[in-house]
Amino acid sequence: MILGTLMDDDYHKFKNDSGLAEIGIGVKKFKCIGQTPPHDHPHIYHDMGDDNFIYCLYCNTKFVYRTSLKPNETDPPGNYFGAIDES
Ligand SMILES: [Zn+2]
Repeated sequence: MILGTLMDDDYHKFKNDSGLAEIGIGVKKFKCIGQTPPHDHPHIYHDMGDDNFIYCLYCNTKFVYRTSLKPNETDPPGNYFGAIDES
């Protein structure tokens, strides 16, 4: 049996190639990778908890939770990177 609690979770990952100050997303738990690899920063797990926004300490992007967005949608569009590390 393989132990891997973190790898078993379904993380949605978002990027910010355009240097946007704020990105709307449809999930509260996610990972920010900064930019498309190989220019990504360490893939950081974020959990907004009771808040509706959170700042990524690496790229300073403000991620705002929007109930109107699906998990793979962003506002503005095009900042969804994927669901799980495919390594
Ligand atoms: Zn980031």
